[in-house]
Amino acid sequence: MPVVAQIGQCIYCHATNDLRDEHIVPFALGGQWVLGKASCPACADKTSAFEGDVLRGELLMARSALGIKTRHAKDRPTRKKAVLIRDSQPLELDLPVNQAVVELPLMEFEMPAYLSGRRYASGISVKGIRVYNVGQITPEELVREHGASGLQLTISNKAVSFGRMIAKIAYTYTVASCGLDALEVVYVLPALVGDVDDIGMWVGSEVSGPRGSLRLNQHRLALKTINRDVICGIQLFGTSSLKYLCVVGHLAPGKTIPAEAPLAMRSSL
Ligand SMILES: [Zn+2]
Repeated sequence: MPVVAQIGQCIYCHATNDLRDEHIVPFALGGQWVLGKASCPACADKTSAFEGDVLRGELLMARSALGIKTRHAKDRPTRKKAVLIRDSQPLELDLPVNQAVVELPLMEFEMPAYLSGRRYASGISVKGIRVYNVGQITPEELVREHGASGLQLTISNKAVSFGRMIAKIAYTYTVASCGLDALEVVYVLPALVGDVDDIGMWVGSEVSGPRGSLRLNQHRLALKTINRDVICGIQLFGTSSLKYLCVVGHLAPGKTIPAEAPLAMRSSL
């Protein structure tokens, strides 16, 4: 794993003992870039809790179908349940993954409340879910094969955890690009390791065009500033149509973001 910067203190709480490396894009999503010695055990526990919600939950089957490397190969699902609708009745099937419809669900949020200026209380508003088909069979094929009329789709909603995962990618990428001392305020920090549920204030989506196809071998990250607030744009799996935005924090005096991203803006699977 390429270490893009050695930090030497926890990027969340500044502890200096027993530090671990911190992935920018999670390893479970194929992320390669690592901040060296950047997270203490207590903070790592907190961040892996919400990442686990997303990565072991809704994305587990998709990760398996895509063949993304895992440290826990034995946990990889080999079968998937499907519910078809046949003669107006539900028909339950238990299929090997390679014969099942596998969805990669990506949540579409409202714009970050901080950027849109809308009223905001807590949590994060989901506008919709973009479902990308990543299995070896399409929903139409499965439906036809079983003489059914439809396929029931069930996607669990771990929106806050998904939003926190986006914020963690954005924050670690900002630290990698600008250094830990670049931000005088880290807006997302309380939502990452505190008990504050204000993730929708800082994280959201920007829908930039018609639904695009998935490019499975890359994630794209970029930074910009608005009034010295650092905004990170994140396109997971190269989805050109769905970009996440995270208002990471406010630049300290004299600090800037680099004109050229120091990391390759893609992380291959
Ligand atoms: Zn810490």
